[in-house]
Amino acid sequence: MLAWFFDLDGTLYSDRTGLWPAISERITRYLQRRLGLDADAAQALRRRWVAAYGTTLQGLMHEHPQAADPADYFAFTHNLPLEDYIAPDGRLREVLAALPGRRWIFTNADAAHARRVLRLLGVEDLFVGIIDVFAVGLQPKPAAQAYRRALRLAEAVPAEAVLVDDRLQNLTAARPLGFFTVWVARHPERSAASAVDAVVPGVYALRADVVLREARRR
Ligand SMILES: [Mg+2]
Repeated sequence: MLAWFFDLDGTLYSDRTGLWPAISERITRYLQRRLGLDADAAQALRRRWVAAYGTTLQGLMHEHPQAADPADYFAFTHNLPLEDYIAPDGRLREVLAALPGRRWIFTNADAAHARRVLRLLGVEDLFVGIIDVFAVGLQPKPAAQAYRRALRLAEAVPAEAVLVDDRLQNLTAARPLGFFTVWVARHPERSAASAVDAVVPGVYALRADVVLREARRR
């Protein structure tokens, strides 16, 4: 049976909703407050940390362990009126419901945020569970351990695992572990696209038959 691992932010809903940019702005503000930086310095630090550690929170935990409080980080960065950004999405529901197998959320955010987003989109019942940053021991994607833990939690084997994510780095780390990788990217660079198994311009374009056909060709 296929096990689908879906990233949340930027994957299940589009960046065009404005939600991820709003979260991103709060992440920058959090660093400004926590570390006493101006906006430019905080943004530069985030870029460096995401490249080096995968996420801003990981950078904070590595380089400022005394200032890092993951629960506080998520409470602040996700403190937004989500209903102003996203609404029930019947088309998403149809696409997800048509995928055979078990569907999981696999996110570097926290489960509380994921649950709020899923409820607002009206698709919460289509997922068997949420694998969040705490479930992987605060060692999130793209750390190899995160994928191994996710497989274990989902009781899945790599040959049946599909990862759908909008961040290339998360996919290229999963692929050598055996995941079938689907990149959600509106404007993928061709050179980058060859580093994954499939590319879709948005989650609505996800079709099980395509994934299964490509998986068999591998
Ligand atoms: Mg994402």
